[in-house]
Amino acid sequence: MRAYRIPEWEHTAEVVDVPVPEPGPGQALVEVAGCGLCHSDFTMLGMPAEFGRALGWSIPFTLGHETAGRIAELGAGVTGFAPGDPVALVSPASCGTCAYCVRGLDASCPNAPAGRGFGRDGGLAEYVLVDDPRALLPLGGLDPRTAGPLTDAGATSYHAVRRAAPRIRPGGTAVVIGAGGLGAFAVQFLCLLTGAQVVAVDTDEARLKVAAELGAHATLVGTTEGTAAEIRALTDGHGADAVLDFVGVDATIAAGVAAVRPAGAFGLVGAASGRLQSPWYGGLPRDGEVFTFQGSGIADVQEVLRLAETGRVRNNVDLFPFAEVEAAYKALHDGTLQGRAVVTFGD
Ligand SMILES: [Zn+2]
Ligand SMILES: [Zn+2]
Repeated sequence: MRAYRIPEWEHTAEVVDVPVPEPGPGQALVEVAGCGLCHSDFTMLGMPAEFGRALGWSIPFTLGHETAGRIAELGAGVTGFAPGDPVALVSPASCGTCAYCVRGLDASCPNAPAGRGFGRDGGLAEYVLVDDPRALLPLGGLDPRTAGPLTDAGATSYHAVRRAAPRIRPGGTAVVIGAGGLGAFAVQFLCLLTGAQVVAVDTDEARLKVAAELGAHATLVGTTEGTAAEIRALTDGHGADAVLDFVGVDATIAAGVAAVRPAGAFGLVGAASGRLQSPWYGGLPRDGEVFTFQGSGIADVQEVLRLAETGRVRNNVDLFPFAEVEAAYKALHDGTLQGRAVVTFGD
């Protein structure tokens, strides 16, 4: 089968021919219908060997952590599914039994460092092996070619919105910085789950237009020193109940933290390695919280799938056949996509 794989550390990924995996007891083989591309894939391509080893990742591995498809074959003992069933795959691995997992914090599980598409084989291949049936989620009426982004871009932003939601009052304001893939989902979740005014901030006016279509009540161009003041102006000077930063550079972190009202929240989701430089007194929101990126858990993915299946969340995708996987990554890199890039198989 064809797979798009990183052959060794600090190496570009390439299309290779590898054997179709065989499912053993407790495993399932999934025929991939579509797999979304993520900015974090670029980080993996440049990852130094010692960093990858420290994470507990193995190499080579196939990229792709936004995967959906159909059950091709079930190993002994896997019940509840039949060949042909459409499924989405949870990509982060988790043990299911540790103190984090049993509290539903499987995104923080310390016992499974590598995930599908990061440190072990992912979904940019014709087939992918699933060794834990907890990672198989029924798609119901959703199309397996396009559902992949719901499991990562969708679920990660859902996790962040749920994390901030207790700080967001009906009639208050929630701000999304970076209205691209994850941010576009966050705008929708904030509209669905809170009674707040939702403000989208981005440097790209086309993305802001989409954010407005998806429900954003106000949009702001750019993330400069003036952005915090503009957000305060939209909130009668009080500041936002919550700011979710899906970019994560110094400028967005500074603007976001400065825009939070007392007892509000700032959530950092964008992994651009920006720094938080506010002094703890006078710089951070009083009685507020600052929280960091933590991916998503199985329950997040499950709930996002149901929101999409019932038509409450729109999943904008740009489809590319597998033969054009390099072009898809280039479009992601160049910022020319309208939706999430999804590579499809079987066409
Ligand atoms: Zn991702
Ligand atoms: Zn665990």
